[in-house]
Amino acid sequence: MASKKADPQFIYEELLKLFPEAHCELNFSTVYQLAVAVMLSAQTTDVSVNRVTGTLFEKYPDAEAMAQAEQKDVEEIIKSIGLYRNKAANVISMSRKLQEEFSGVIPDDMDKLTSLPGIGRKSANVILSEGYKHPAIAVDTHVHRVSARLGLAKETDTPDQTEMKLRRKFPEENWSKLHHLMIFFGRYKCHSRNPECDDCPFREYCRRKASH
Ligand code: SF4
Repeated sequence: MASKKADPQFIYEELLKLFPEAHCELNFSTVYQLAVAVMLSAQTTDVSVNRVTGTLFEKYPDAEAMAQAEQKDVEEIIKSIGLYRNKAANVISMSRKLQEEFSGVIPDDMDKLTSLPGIGRKSANVILSEGYKHPAIAVDTHVHRVSARLGLAKETDTPDQTEMKLRRKFPEENWSKLHHLMIFFGRYKCHSRNPECDDCPFREYCRRKASH
């Protein structure tokens, strides 16, 4: 196991060189649609979500329309993605609560966001960052794995613990970009299995328990 620690600033700069274009890959036009896309993306690729949201948002563009949807109709549209029954139920419940308690507007606040059905801290962070441009770091499977391999957090940390460690190590103005950089690095280079280590700038610091 490597003992050297990479400086967070070095990590940020190298990630930026690798993926200067890192961005949110979900398609959406409003913060409401972003929230729905994020909910649908759990354990599913963004590409799969984008395949269904065109039709979904055409039929149900906002909370008002979705609050009146029949679950079976939503299921029919999103059935190609994983956990579609639960996701359809959650999207409708979330939209109803949004209508009843927040005038149909996605709230700009962590506690209020996580009071909505189907929205946990990770999803709320994506919504705050992408939808409202607040500094936030959402810890998904890629961010969690990459953080551990780069020695920024431990593999045994919870997503919340990893988030707090990243928040302490990086300046607030870089949080949202860092989130995208780590996702792109995890998605396109530092894969869960068979990562592309040969030309990785972090090889000498890497904690992955395997020979490089
Ligand atoms: S050396 Fe390999 S496993 Fe380690 S951070 Fe780089 S790509 Fe990921």
